Amino acid sequence: MRKLADKIFIAIIAVLVLALAFSGFTIYKKSKDISKVEKEMNQAEQTITQNEEKISGLQQELDGAKSENEKIKSELDTAKNEKDKLQKENDSLKKQIETLKAKKNNSAQNTLENSAQNGQTSTQNPVNPSSGKKVCYLTFDDGPTSRTPEILKILKKYNVKATFFVINTSNINYIKQAYDEGHAIGLHSYSHNYAGIYKNVSAYMKDLQSISDKVYSIIGVRSDIMRFPGGSSNLVSKKYCRGIMTQLTKEVSEKGYAYFDWNVDSDDAGSSHSSYTRIVNNVLKGSDGKNSICVLMHDAESKTSTVQALPKIIEGLAARGFRFELLTSKVTGFHHGVNN
Ligand SMILES: [Zn+2]
Repeated sequence: MRKLADKIFIAIIAVLVLALAFSGFTIYKKSKDISKVEKEMNQAEQTITQNEEKISGLQQELDGAKSENEKIKSELDTAKNEKDKLQKENDSLKKQIETLKAKKNNSAQNTLENSAQNGQTSTQNPVNPSSGKKVCYLTFDDGPTSRTPEILKILKKYNVKATFFVINTSNINYIKQAYDEGHAIGLHSYSHNYAGIYKNVSAYMKDLQSISDKVYSIIGVRSDIMRFPGGSSNLVSKKYCRGIMTQLTKEVSEKGYAYFDWNVDSDDAGSSHSSYTRIVNNVLKGSDGKNSICVLMHDAESKTSTVQALPKIIEGLAARGFRFELLTSKVTGFHHGVNN
């Protein structure tokens, strides 16, 4: 009996020992797992710290890039302002050059010889277009056309400068030659269509701007002198808009333009076949008793007799004591009375 009890006791002890050993082993294993997990956690924490450092580094770079960007933007703005300023200076210098060019041309007239030797000109009456005490402004409207180079040739021969009030013709590029040879380019009209331009102020101003842009695109200079189609005294405009010339003469002056009519009419546009002798006589008679004249002529395509008359006109006026000058916005006078 006692032996059985011993055996049972031993068995219980053995079971207890085994259970203890097993749980000891399990605890050991778990604690090993825990330390593994802890190790992994440490590693993960380290990675997080590293990533955080990286993030803050990137943030700094981003901030740096942002401020760099703003700096570049402000540099860009400054450069743009500088560019605008230079552009303005450029425009004003161009204007100055134009004025100086006109001055130079006027003084050049004093030194160059002026007698022309072609068939139509008389050599007994040498022309000196710069010495006269009286002033003549020769003006040509409605060009340029193929008449223009012929006129330029004559003007060059006499060393006389003139003013061209231009429209948008298919030969508009001749204004470059005229300008380069020292003549003045004035604005006449883009369309020269009375019904269109005289219907209201904005239609007129739009047309004027168009011819101004065209001229600028060819010679690189803004013209500030102009002539109304039909002159400021025209009555035709009344048909399209009452009072328009009263408004326009005010408007263009406010916009900085000087407009010019004329006080001597060659009447080369008056009748379709004005003979050249009639044109010469009209001008010379028209100049009688005047110290300052602005002569209206046309270099429209059909005006061959104007070309023919020009040498006699220059000679005749020079013989009457006129010198020839360019119209500029500084010149005053030559305004007809407004009739509409
Ligand atoms: Zn005209």
